[in-house]
Amino acid sequence: MSGDSAAPDGTGVAPDGAGGGDAVRPRPGQLTFVAPRRRKPPTHLADLDPAGRTAAAEALGQKGFRARQVAVHYFEHLTVTPEEMTDLPKAGRADLVAALLPTLLTPVRTLTADGGATVKTLWRLHDGALVESVLMRYPRRITVCISSQAGCGMNCPFCATGQAGLTRNLSTAEIVEQVAYAARTLRAGGLADIERTDAGLGLAEMEDSGGGPDSGGGPDSGGGADLGGETGEADAAYGGTRVTNVVFMGMGEALANYAAAIGAIRRLTDPSPEGFGMSARGLTMSTVGLVPAIDRLAAEGIPVTLALSLHAPDDDLRDTLVPINTRWRVDEALDAARRYFEATGRRVSIEYALIRDINDQSWRADLLGEKLAARGRGWVHVNPIPLNPTPGSRWTASRAGVAQQFVERVRAHGIPTTVRDTRGREIDGACGQLAAAT
Ligand code: SAH
Repeated sequence: MSGDSAAPDGTGVAPDGAGGGDAVRPRPGQLTFVAPRRRKPPTHLADLDPAGRTAAAEALGQKGFRARQVAVHYFEHLTVTPEEMTDLPKAGRADLVAALLPTLLTPVRTLTADGGATVKTLWRLHDGALVESVLMRYPRRITVCISSQAGCGMNCPFCATGQAGLTRNLSTAEIVEQVAYAARTLRAGGLADIERTDAGLGLAEMEDSGGGPDSGGGPDSGGGADLGGETGEADAAYGGTRVTNVVFMGMGEALANYAAAIGAIRRLTDPSPEGFGMSARGLTMSTVGLVPAIDRLAAEGIPVTLALSLHAPDDDLRDTLVPINTRWRVDEALDAARRYFEATGRRVSIEYALIRDINDQSWRADLLGEKLAARGRGWVHVNPIPLNPTPGSRWTASRAGVAQQFVERVRAHGIPTTVRDTRGREIDGACGQLAAAT
Protein backbone atom coordinates (compact mmCIF):
# COMPACT_ATOMS: atom_id res chain seq x y z
CA MET A 1 0.00 0.00 0.00
CA SER A 2 2.72 2.36 0.86
CA GLY A 3 6.25 2.88 -0.24
CA ASP A 4 7.06 4.96 2.77
CA SER A 5 7.41 2.12 5.18
CA ALA A 6 10.35 2.37 7.51
CA ALA A 7 13.10 0.07 6.35
CA PRO A 8 14.96 -2.12 8.80
CA ASP A 9 18.45 -0.87 9.33
CA GLY A 10 19.96 -3.92 10.90
CA THR A 11 19.47 -5.84 14.05
CA GLY A 12 20.52 -3.32 16.68
CA VAL A 13 18.12 -2.37 19.39
CA ALA A 14 17.12 1.27 19.37
CA PRO A 15 19.09 3.33 21.90
CA ASP A 16 16.33 3.45 24.48
CA GLY A 17 14.94 0.09 23.54
CA ALA A 18 11.73 1.73 22.44
CA GLY A 19 9.75 -0.66 20.33
CA GLY A 20 12.42 -3.18 21.11
CA GLY A 21 14.07 -3.26 17.77
CA ASP A 22 15.09 -1.48 14.66
CA ALA A 23 12.03 0.59 13.98
CA VAL A 24 12.70 4.02 12.58
CA ARG A 25 10.86 6.87 14.21
CA PRO A 26 8.31 8.07 11.68
CA ARG A 27 7.93 11.62 10.48
CA PRO A 28 4.73 13.29 11.64
CA GLY A 29 1.81 11.85 9.71
CA GLN A 30 3.88 9.15 8.05
CA LEU A 31 2.06 5.83 7.86
CA THR A 32 3.81 2.46 7.82
CA PHE A 33 1.80 -0.46 6.50
CA VAL A 34 4.51 -2.92 5.65
CA ALA A 35 6.36 -4.26 8.64
CA PRO A 36 10.11 -4.60 8.31
CA ARG A 37 11.01 -8.19 7.53
CA ARG A 38 12.70 -10.08 10.30
CA ARG A 39 13.62 -13.65 10.88
CA LYS A 40 10.33 -15.46 11.42
CA PRO A 41 9.50 -16.72 14.90
CA PRO A 42 9.47 -20.52 15.21
CA THR A 43 6.20 -22.16 14.24
CA HIS A 44 4.11 -23.05 17.28
CA LEU A 45 1.09 -25.28 17.78
CA ALA A 46 -1.04 -22.15 18.15
CA ASP A 47 -0.06 -21.07 14.62
CA LEU A 48 -1.59 -24.22 13.15
CA ASP A 49 -5.05 -25.59 12.56
CA PRO A 50 -5.70 -29.22 13.52
CA ALA A 51 -4.58 -30.56 10.13
CA GLY A 52 -1.40 -28.51 10.33
CA ARG A 53 -0.73 -29.82 13.82
CA THR A 54 -1.14 -33.42 12.75
CA ALA A 55 1.23 -32.83 9.86
CA ALA A 56 3.74 -31.20 12.18
CA ALA A 57 3.70 -34.19 14.54
CA GLU A 58 4.12 -36.58 11.64
CA ALA A 59 6.99 -34.54 10.26
CA LEU A 60 8.67 -35.13 13.62
CA GLY A 61 8.28 -38.89 13.18
CA GLN A 62 5.42 -39.09 15.70
CA LYS A 63 1.88 -40.33 15.33
CA GLY A 64 -0.41 -37.57 14.12
CA PHE A 65 -2.79 -37.84 17.05
CA ARG A 66 0.00 -36.87 19.43
CA ALA A 67 -0.49 -33.30 18.25
CA ARG A 68 -4.02 -33.32 19.60
CA GLN A 69 -2.77 -34.58 22.95
CA VAL A 70 -0.31 -31.70 23.11
CA ALA A 71 -3.11 -29.32 22.17
CA VAL A 72 -5.21 -30.59 25.08
CA HIS A 73 -2.32 -29.82 27.39
CA TYR A 74 -1.77 -26.40 25.90
CA PHE A 75 -5.34 -25.16 25.55
CA GLU A 76 -7.11 -27.11 28.28
CA HIS A 77 -4.60 -27.87 30.98
CA LEU A 78 -2.59 -24.73 30.30
CA THR A 79 0.60 -26.69 30.65
CA VAL A 80 3.75 -26.54 28.54
CA THR A 81 5.82 -28.81 30.79
CA PRO A 82 6.66 -32.21 29.25
CA GLU A 83 6.84 -33.87 32.69
CA GLU A 84 3.15 -33.13 33.18
CA MET A 85 2.17 -34.71 29.87
CA THR A 86 2.18 -38.26 31.13
CA ASP A 87 -0.14 -39.50 28.40
CA LEU A 88 2.67 -39.01 25.90
CA PRO A 89 5.30 -41.73 25.59
CA LYS A 90 8.43 -40.77 27.45
CA ALA A 91 10.63 -41.45 24.48
CA GLY A 92 10.56 -38.41 22.25
CA ARG A 93 8.18 -36.47 24.50
CA ALA A 94 10.57 -33.63 25.28
CA ASP A 95 11.47 -33.26 21.61
CA LEU A 96 7.84 -33.25 20.53
CA VAL A 97 6.92 -30.60 23.08
CA ALA A 98 9.97 -28.49 22.25
CA ALA A 99 9.02 -28.59 18.57
CA LEU A 100 5.30 -27.90 18.98
CA LEU A 101 5.54 -25.48 21.90
CA PRO A 102 8.73 -23.49 21.36
CA THR A 103 9.30 -20.62 23.76
CA LEU A 104 8.16 -17.47 21.96
CA LEU A 105 7.83 -14.99 24.81
CA THR A 106 10.29 -14.48 27.62
CA PRO A 107 9.21 -12.22 30.47
CA VAL A 108 11.64 -9.37 30.98
CA ARG A 109 9.86 -7.37 33.63
CA THR A 110 6.56 -7.38 35.45
CA LEU A 111 5.01 -4.31 37.07
CA THR A 112 1.89 -4.27 39.19
CA ALA A 113 -0.63 -1.61 40.17
CA ASP A 114 -4.01 -1.42 41.86
CA GLY A 115 -2.83 -3.60 44.71
CA GLY A 116 -1.82 -6.36 42.31
CA ALA A 117 -5.10 -6.40 40.35
CA THR A 118 -3.29 -4.94 37.32
CA VAL A 119 -0.14 -6.62 36.02
CA LYS A 120 1.87 -5.36 33.06
CA THR A 121 4.43 -7.69 31.53
CA LEU A 122 7.22 -6.76 29.15
CA TRP A 123 8.08 -9.63 26.82
CA ARG A 124 11.16 -10.28 24.74
CA LEU A 125 10.50 -12.13 21.49
CA HIS A 126 12.89 -14.56 19.84
CA ASP A 127 14.64 -11.81 17.90
CA GLY A 128 14.88 -9.33 20.74
CA ALA A 129 11.78 -7.35 19.79
CA LEU A 130 9.81 -6.20 22.83
CA VAL A 131 6.08 -6.09 23.44
CA GLU A 132 3.84 -5.59 26.44
CA SER A 133 0.57 -6.99 27.69
CA VAL A 134 -1.59 -5.97 30.63
CA LEU A 135 -3.78 -8.25 32.75
CA MET A 136 -6.57 -6.61 34.74
CA ARG A 137 -9.13 -7.88 37.19
CA TYR A 138 -12.51 -6.16 37.41
CA PRO A 139 -15.49 -6.94 39.57
CA ARG A 140 -16.96 -9.39 37.10
CA ARG A 141 -14.45 -9.87 34.35
CA ILE A 142 -10.77 -10.49 33.82
CA THR A 143 -9.32 -8.73 30.82
CA VAL A 144 -5.99 -9.12 29.11
CA CYS A 145 -4.88 -6.32 26.81
CA ILE A 146 -2.56 -7.77 24.18
CA SER A 147 -0.16 -6.55 21.52
CA SER A 148 -0.39 -7.53 17.87
CA GLN A 149 2.74 -5.80 16.59
CA ALA A 150 6.06 -4.74 18.10
CA GLY A 151 5.57 -1.00 17.80
CA CYS A 152 2.95 0.43 15.46
CA GLY A 153 2.94 2.08 12.06
CA MET A 154 -0.13 4.24 12.53
CA ASN A 155 1.77 7.13 14.11
CA CYS A 156 -0.96 8.73 16.24
CA PRO A 157 0.93 11.61 17.86
CA PHE A 158 -0.67 11.18 21.31
CA CYS A 159 0.24 7.48 21.58
CA ALA A 160 3.62 6.36 22.89
CA THR A 161 3.60 3.20 20.80
CA GLY A 162 2.94 5.11 17.58
CA GLN A 163 5.81 7.45 18.21
CA ALA A 164 8.36 4.65 18.23
CA GLY A 165 7.43 3.28 14.81
CA LEU A 166 6.82 -0.28 13.67
CA THR A 167 9.38 -2.96 14.48
CA ARG A 168 7.51 -5.99 13.18
CA ASN A 169 4.31 -7.98 13.05
CA LEU A 170 3.69 -10.64 15.64
CA SER A 171 2.81 -14.16 14.57
CA THR A 172 -0.50 -15.73 15.54
CA ALA A 173 1.15 -17.78 18.27
CA GLU A 174 3.01 -14.77 19.65
CA ILE A 175 -0.37 -13.10 20.09
CA VAL A 176 -2.06 -16.21 21.51
CA GLU A 177 0.82 -16.82 23.91
CA GLN A 178 0.10 -13.52 25.66
CA VAL A 179 -3.34 -14.85 26.49
CA ALA A 180 -1.99 -18.27 27.44
CA TYR A 181 0.49 -16.69 29.82
CA ALA A 182 -2.26 -14.60 31.35
CA ALA A 183 -4.34 -17.73 31.84
CA ARG A 184 -1.43 -19.51 33.50
CA THR A 185 -0.73 -16.49 35.72
CA LEU A 186 -4.34 -16.44 36.85
CA ARG A 187 -4.39 -20.10 37.61
CA ALA A 188 -1.23 -19.72 39.67
CA GLY A 189 -2.89 -16.96 41.69
CA GLY A 190 -0.73 -14.25 40.19
CA LEU A 191 -3.44 -11.61 39.95
CA ALA A 192 -4.73 -10.12 43.17
CA ASP A 193 -8.37 -9.60 43.97
CA ILE A 194 -9.66 -6.10 43.74
CA GLU A 195 -10.82 -4.37 46.89
CA ARG A 196 -14.45 -5.17 47.33
CA THR A 197 -15.18 -1.63 48.36
CA ASP A 198 -14.16 -0.49 44.86
CA ALA A 199 -16.55 -2.82 43.18
CA GLY A 200 -18.71 -1.24 40.61
CA LEU A 201 -17.61 2.30 41.24
CA GLY A 202 -14.40 4.00 40.33
CA LEU A 203 -12.61 0.95 39.14
CA ALA A 204 -15.26 -0.59 37.03
CA GLU A 205 -14.87 0.96 33.61
CA MET A 206 -11.50 0.42 32.15
CA GLU A 207 -9.25 -0.23 29.27
CA ASP A 208 -11.45 -2.53 27.37
CA SER A 209 -14.28 -1.41 25.26
CA GLY A 210 -16.70 -0.99 28.08
CA GLY A 211 -19.02 -3.15 26.08
CA GLY A 212 -18.54 -6.37 27.91
CA PRO A 213 -19.81 -9.57 26.38
CA ASP A 214 -23.36 -9.27 27.56
CA SER A 215 -23.78 -5.58 27.21
CA GLY A 216 -23.20 -4.85 23.62
CA GLY A 217 -25.40 -7.14 21.64
CA GLY A 218 -28.03 -4.95 20.21
CA PRO A 219 -30.39 -2.09 20.37
CA ASP A 220 -31.74 -2.91 23.79
CA SER A 221 -28.51 -3.57 25.49
CA GLY A 222 -28.33 -0.31 27.33
CA GLY A 223 -25.50 2.08 27.64
CA GLY A 224 -22.40 0.14 28.36
CA ALA A 225 -23.77 0.82 31.80
CA ASP A 226 -21.95 2.48 34.58
CA LEU A 227 -20.45 -0.82 35.44
CA GLY A 228 -18.61 -0.94 32.21
CA GLY A 229 -20.66 -3.64 30.63
CA GLU A 230 -19.66 -6.33 33.04
CA THR A 231 -19.75 -9.79 31.67
CA GLY A 232 -21.73 -11.23 34.50
CA GLU A 233 -19.77 -14.43 34.01
CA ALA A 234 -19.73 -16.02 37.40
CA ASP A 235 -16.29 -17.38 36.76
CA ALA A 236 -14.79 -13.92 36.67
CA ALA A 237 -16.29 -12.81 39.96
CA TYR A 238 -14.03 -12.32 42.91
CA GLY A 239 -11.32 -14.88 42.89
CA GLY A 240 -12.04 -15.83 39.27
CA THR A 241 -9.21 -17.62 37.57
CA ARG A 242 -10.11 -17.44 33.89
CA VAL A 243 -9.50 -14.80 31.28
CA THR A 244 -12.97 -13.66 30.18
CA ASN A 245 -12.05 -10.75 27.91
CA VAL A 246 -9.26 -10.10 25.45
CA VAL A 247 -8.77 -6.66 23.96
CA PHE A 248 -6.48 -5.89 21.03
CA MET A 249 -5.57 -2.58 22.61
CA GLY A 250 -1.93 -3.09 23.41
CA MET A 251 0.85 -2.28 20.98
CA GLY A 252 0.09 -2.30 17.30
CA GLU A 253 -2.70 -2.02 14.76
CA ALA A 254 -3.98 -5.58 14.64
CA LEU A 255 -5.95 -5.09 11.43
CA ALA A 256 -2.69 -4.10 9.70
CA ASN A 257 -1.44 -7.57 10.70
CA TYR A 258 -4.68 -9.15 9.58
CA ALA A 259 -3.77 -12.77 8.95
CA ALA A 260 -2.03 -13.19 12.29
CA ALA A 261 -4.76 -11.33 14.15
CA ILE A 262 -7.61 -13.37 12.68
CA GLY A 263 -5.60 -16.51 13.34
CA ALA A 264 -5.36 -15.47 16.98
CA ILE A 265 -9.09 -14.75 17.13
CA ARG A 266 -9.75 -18.24 15.79
CA ARG A 267 -7.41 -19.87 18.31
CA LEU A 268 -9.04 -17.96 21.15
CA THR A 269 -12.58 -18.83 20.11
CA ASP A 270 -12.18 -22.31 18.62
CA PRO A 271 -13.59 -24.92 21.00
CA SER A 272 -11.05 -26.82 23.04
CA PRO A 273 -8.74 -28.48 22.22
CA GLU A 274 -8.53 -26.65 18.92
CA GLY A 275 -8.41 -23.40 20.85
CA PHE A 276 -9.32 -21.78 24.15
CA GLY A 277 -13.06 -21.85 23.52
CA MET A 278 -13.61 -18.24 24.55
CA SER A 279 -16.77 -16.40 23.60
CA ALA A 280 -16.28 -14.04 20.66
CA ARG A 281 -18.32 -11.58 22.66
CA GLY A 282 -15.44 -11.30 25.09
CA LEU A 283 -12.98 -10.19 22.40
CA THR A 284 -12.57 -6.59 21.27
CA MET A 285 -10.73 -5.58 18.12
CA SER A 286 -9.60 -1.97 18.26
CA THR A 287 -8.64 -0.14 15.07
CA VAL A 288 -7.71 3.28 13.77
CA GLY A 289 -10.24 2.63 10.99
CA LEU A 290 -8.75 0.47 8.25
CA VAL A 291 -11.99 0.34 6.32
CA PRO A 292 -11.35 -2.65 4.03
CA ALA A 293 -10.10 -4.69 6.99
CA ILE A 294 -13.20 -3.80 9.05
CA ASP A 295 -15.38 -5.12 6.23
CA ARG A 296 -13.26 -8.22 5.98
CA LEU A 297 -13.55 -8.83 9.72
CA ALA A 298 -17.32 -8.39 9.52
CA ALA A 299 -17.43 -11.21 6.97
CA GLU A 300 -15.45 -13.70 9.08
CA GLY A 301 -18.49 -14.85 11.01
CA ILE A 302 -16.83 -14.33 14.39
CA PRO A 303 -18.75 -11.56 16.13
CA VAL A 304 -16.01 -9.90 18.13
CA THR A 305 -16.66 -6.40 19.39
CA LEU A 306 -15.27 -3.64 17.20
CA ALA A 307 -13.77 -0.51 18.74
CA LEU A 308 -13.07 2.40 16.42
CA SER A 309 -10.45 4.91 17.60
CA LEU A 310 -12.12 8.05 16.33
CA HIS A 311 -10.81 10.83 18.58
CA ALA A 312 -12.29 13.57 16.38
CA PRO A 313 -15.56 13.88 14.43
CA ASP A 314 -14.12 16.20 11.77
CA ASP A 315 -11.55 15.39 9.12
CA ASP A 316 -9.40 18.46 9.72
CA LEU A 317 -8.55 17.50 13.28
CA ARG A 318 -8.62 13.73 12.75
CA ASP A 319 -6.06 14.05 9.95
CA THR A 320 -3.59 15.20 12.59
CA LEU A 321 -4.64 12.96 15.52
CA VAL A 322 -5.15 9.71 13.60
CA PRO A 323 -3.11 9.97 10.38
CA ILE A 324 -4.91 7.04 8.74
CA ASN A 325 -7.72 9.55 8.31
CA THR A 326 -5.88 10.87 5.27
CA ARG A 327 -6.74 7.50 3.62
CA TRP A 328 -10.18 6.80 5.07
CA ARG A 329 -12.22 9.78 6.23
CA VAL A 330 -14.36 10.06 9.34
CA ASP A 331 -17.55 9.32 7.43
CA GLU A 332 -16.03 6.31 5.69
CA ALA A 333 -14.81 4.90 9.03
CA LEU A 334 -18.22 5.47 10.64
CA ASP A 335 -20.01 3.86 7.70
CA ALA A 336 -17.74 0.83 8.02
CA ALA A 337 -18.45 0.68 11.77
CA ARG A 338 -22.18 0.78 11.07
CA ARG A 339 -21.82 -2.01 8.49
CA TYR A 340 -19.92 -4.01 11.09
CA PHE A 341 -22.83 -3.67 13.48
CA GLU A 342 -25.28 -4.74 10.78
CA ALA A 343 -23.22 -7.80 9.90
CA THR A 344 -22.54 -8.95 13.45
CA GLY A 345 -25.21 -7.45 15.70
CA ARG A 346 -22.40 -6.33 17.96
CA ARG A 347 -22.64 -2.81 19.22
CA VAL A 348 -19.59 -0.81 18.18
CA SER A 349 -17.47 1.23 20.60
CA ILE A 350 -16.20 4.64 19.58
CA GLU A 351 -12.96 5.45 21.37
CA TYR A 352 -12.37 9.11 22.05
CA ALA A 353 -9.31 10.25 24.02
CA LEU A 354 -10.28 13.60 25.52
CA ILE A 355 -7.42 16.02 24.91
CA ARG A 356 -7.62 19.40 26.60
CA ASP A 357 -8.61 22.19 24.22
CA ILE A 358 -7.87 19.97 21.22
CA ASN A 359 -10.91 17.74 20.69
CA ASP A 360 -13.09 18.36 23.76
CA GLN A 361 -15.16 21.33 22.57
CA SER A 362 -18.94 21.25 22.82
CA TRP A 363 -19.36 21.66 19.08
CA ARG A 364 -17.27 18.56 18.50
CA ALA A 365 -19.42 16.63 20.98
CA ASP A 366 -22.47 17.75 19.02
CA LEU A 367 -20.93 16.86 15.67
CA LEU A 368 -19.97 13.43 17.01
CA GLY A 369 -23.48 12.88 18.38
CA GLU A 370 -25.06 14.00 15.12
CA LYS A 371 -22.88 11.78 12.95
CA LEU A 372 -23.57 8.72 15.08
CA ALA A 373 -27.30 9.36 15.45
CA ALA A 374 -27.60 9.94 11.70
CA ARG A 375 -26.54 6.32 11.23
CA GLY A 376 -29.24 4.88 13.44
CA ARG A 377 -30.09 4.02 17.03
CA GLY A 378 -28.71 1.40 19.33
CA TRP A 379 -25.75 0.46 17.20
CA VAL A 380 -22.98 2.33 18.94
CA HIS A 381 -21.75 3.69 22.20
CA VAL A 382 -19.04 6.22 22.92
CA ASN A 383 -16.17 5.63 25.31
CA PRO A 384 -14.38 8.88 26.00
CA ILE A 385 -11.19 8.39 27.96
CA PRO A 386 -9.13 11.17 29.49
CA LEU A 387 -5.83 11.28 27.62
CA ASN A 388 -3.09 9.34 29.35
CA PRO A 389 0.23 11.16 29.56
CA THR A 390 3.02 10.05 27.23
CA PRO A 391 6.63 11.19 27.16
CA GLY A 392 7.30 14.37 25.22
CA SER A 393 3.65 14.99 24.41
CA ARG A 394 2.46 18.57 24.62
CA TRP A 395 -1.08 17.42 25.24
CA THR A 396 -2.91 16.76 28.43
CA ALA A 397 -6.25 15.35 29.53
CA SER A 398 -9.40 17.42 29.44
CA ARG A 399 -10.54 18.94 32.71
CA ALA A 400 -13.08 16.78 34.53
CA GLY A 401 -15.88 19.29 34.11
CA VAL A 402 -15.22 19.62 30.40
CA ALA A 403 -15.16 15.86 30.00
CA GLN A 404 -18.47 15.58 31.81
CA GLN A 405 -19.99 18.24 29.58
CA PHE A 406 -18.72 16.44 26.50
CA VAL A 407 -20.38 13.24 27.68
CA GLU A 408 -23.68 14.95 28.36
CA ARG A 409 -23.76 16.58 24.95
CA VAL A 410 -23.12 13.32 23.15
CA ARG A 411 -25.79 11.64 25.28
CA ALA A 412 -28.23 14.39 24.38
CA HIS A 413 -28.14 12.97 20.83
CA GLY A 414 -29.33 9.65 22.19
CA ILE A 415 -25.92 8.01 22.10
CA PRO A 416 -24.93 5.96 25.18
CA THR A 417 -21.69 7.43 26.44
CA THR A 418 -19.52 6.40 29.38
CA VAL A 419 -16.23 7.91 30.44
CA ARG A 420 -13.71 5.25 31.09
CA ASP A 421 -11.44 5.42 34.03
CA THR A 422 -8.06 4.07 33.31
CA ARG A 423 -5.93 1.28 34.70
CA GLY A 424 -2.23 1.07 35.21
CA ARG A 425 -1.34 4.68 34.47
CA GLU A 426 1.37 4.73 37.14
CA ILE A 427 3.09 1.75 35.52
CA ASP A 428 2.71 3.16 32.01
CA GLY A 429 0.29 0.35 31.36
CA ALA A 430 -2.68 2.43 30.28
CA CYS A 431 -3.99 3.03 26.76
CA GLY A 432 -1.36 4.60 24.58
CA GLN A 433 1.43 4.25 27.11
CA LEU A 434 2.93 0.97 26.00
CA ALA A 435 6.35 1.68 24.58
CA ALA A 436 8.26 -1.41 25.65
CA ALA A 437 11.38 0.37 26.84
CA THR A 438 13.65 -1.69 29.02
N1 SAH B 1 -4.11 0.46 17.06
C1 SAH B 1 -5.34 0.22 17.77
C2 SAH B 1 -5.17 -0.33 19.16
C3 SAH B 1 -4.15 0.26 20.07
S1 SAH B 1 -4.48 1.55 21.16
C4 SAH B 1 -6.15 1.48 17.81
O1 SAH B 1 -5.62 2.55 17.54
O2 SAH B 1 -7.35 1.41 18.07
C5 SAH B 1 -5.93 1.30 22.04
C6 SAH B 1 -6.66 2.61 22.30
O3 SAH B 1 -5.89 3.52 23.10
C7 SAH B 1 -6.96 3.36 21.01
O4 SAH B 1 -8.27 3.84 21.03
C8 SAH B 1 -5.97 4.50 21.07
O5 SAH B 1 -6.33 5.58 20.26
C9 SAH B 1 -5.99 4.81 22.54
N2 SAH B 1 -4.89 5.65 22.98
C10 SAH B 1 -3.67 5.78 22.42
N3 SAH B 1 -2.92 6.66 23.11
C11 SAH B 1 -3.68 7.09 24.14
C12 SAH B 1 -3.46 8.01 25.19
N4 SAH B 1 -2.29 8.62 25.34
N5 SAH B 1 -4.46 8.21 26.07
C13 SAH B 1 -5.64 7.56 25.94
N6 SAH B 1 -5.91 6.68 24.98
C14 SAH B 1 -4.94 6.45 24.06
